[in-house]
Amino acid sequence: MKKTTKYIFVTGGVTSSLGKGILAASLAKLLQGRGYNTTIQKFDPYINIDPGTLNPYEHGECYVTRDGAETDLDLGHYERFLNTPCSQANNVTTGRIYETVIKRERMGEYHGKTVQVIPHITDEIKRRFTLLNEHNHYDIIITEIGGTVGDIEALPYIEALRQFRYEYGTQHCLVIHLTLVPYLSVVGELKTKPTQHSVKELLSSGIQPDILVCRSEHHLGDELKVKLARFCNVKEEAVIENINASSIYDVPFLLMKENLDRITLEYLQLPINPLNGLNAWKTFLNRLRNPSDEITIGIVGKYVELKDAYLSIHESLKIAGTEMELAVNIKWIHSEDINAGNAGRMLSGLDGVLVGPGFGERGVDGKILTVKFVRENKIPFFGICLGMQVAIIEFGRNVLQLPDCNSSEFKPDAQNPVISMMEEQKNTRQMGGTMRLGEYECALTKNTHAFKAYEKAVVIERHRHRYEFNSEFTKQYQKAGMLMSGINPKSGLVEIIELKPEDHPYYLASQFHPEYASTVENPHPLFTAFIAAAYKVKTSKKKP
Ligand code: GLN
Repeated sequence: MKKTTKYIFVTGGVTSSLGKGILAASLAKLLQGRGYNTTIQKFDPYINIDPGTLNPYEHGECYVTRDGAETDLDLGHYERFLNTPCSQANNVTTGRIYETVIKRERMGEYHGKTVQVIPHITDEIKRRFTLLNEHNHYDIIITEIGGTVGDIEALPYIEALRQFRYEYGTQHCLVIHLTLVPYLSVVGELKTKPTQHSVKELLSSGIQPDILVCRSEHHLGDELKVKLARFCNVKEEAVIENINASSIYDVPFLLMKENLDRITLEYLQLPINPLNGLNAWKTFLNRLRNPSDEITIGIVGKYVELKDAYLSIHESLKIAGTEMELAVNIKWIHSEDINAGNAGRMLSGLDGVLVGPGFGERGVDGKILTVKFVRENKIPFFGICLGMQVAIIEFGRNVLQLPDCNSSEFKPDAQNPVISMMEEQKNTRQMGGTMRLGEYECALTKNTHAFKAYEKAVVIERHRHRYEFNSEFTKQYQKAGMLMSGINPKSGLVEIIELKPEDHPYYLASQFHPEYASTVENPHPLFTAFIAAAYKVKTSKKKP
């Protein structure tokens, strides 16, 4: 018998940033734990084709999928929670929808019809609602509609959802509305009016939500739940409290206590299987709550005012630490604040230093000074992408004494361009989607930190960059003690560099982004190796 895939839509009301992504990921985790093959997709109502060209200050990190899609950071949460990969199709924007429709119009595929938001744009949205299920692989697909109900940009999505729900049937298509129930401290009360208005707004578009999830700083209490149920036409048990949690990883079980997964399955007319699939998650939470020691890691970057710009790195560090029962304290360090006079002070008290990815020259000097300091003072170091490139520049300038040593990203005519653009990138004019993106193989050299971490000869990792280590300099670097421990077997490009254990306790940098591949149930080996090395150095210092 053909399986009927069930669809769950998550909309947001009252304000943005309520955590629709975490709600979607948490519910998906619970459904996965009950044996349902679940995936999540996000529809973003902006005109950019993808977030790849967006300033990190505006939108946080750009997450990269295995197939090389530059996506919203919520997809990182989806992968970290579910431990299953997303793809290009899991993130759709208005730009992408319009691009498809306009291309079709140019091909004459609308046969002379006037192309309109309804039905052409909404039809394309509906087609994409089901696109992930081409092979009928999923039991449940959760779709997060970005933005807030009532936004002009969100209207075509809400209209498409209204049609889809009608066509598909309410028992196969559930709407969960996430709202804010604010606490007014002057009167000491939680207020339901914003939620009532937000549901009215949805109703005016023809959609009655089935479940209300209420984000709140305080417990809702039965009386308030009854009130919300009455005003918003939902059952009392379908008013779910979503209280602020100390960690996002607590949210699945908090929502389970509120019976969100049971009600969801009831409404979708699916059996409520036992929750057998969350043992690894429980182990993780236990370790997270009961660390046996702590460690302090500095993240050096230029977007540190907005922590979300380094979201996957932050989570990967915490996850790797948790695996070792270590609480990881993060110290955020702005690379522009570091100068030759204060580097020692700025980087003091750290057990390890991570230099993060980035674009453009601003803040690069501070990153180079950081790498010099950690190299000379033997502080465990992990560089990622631009972090590896600055390590190469620092080594070239200070160890090899190469004059005018730079990346051609910052100085196109540098005398010694140790980081340069790949040939195939040189004629690229278009900015979006043209970097070296997604998965590439990397062959590891035996008896290196990298090989020991992965315990494999060949690994596959995700990339997002235009510049590379310039292989003309390989010999000089190797002679001076740098190891090229990871190489792309097809192109010969250098993907991992290290210093030997006799020269430095732990110094490793990768051109790829291991942070995208770290999940709660599978911490990334390079993060685990880095934390382990930093902890080893910390504990050895303590000993008399
Ligand atoms: N700006 C560098 C490049 O394009 C590094 C990119 C990054 O750190 N993601 O190669």
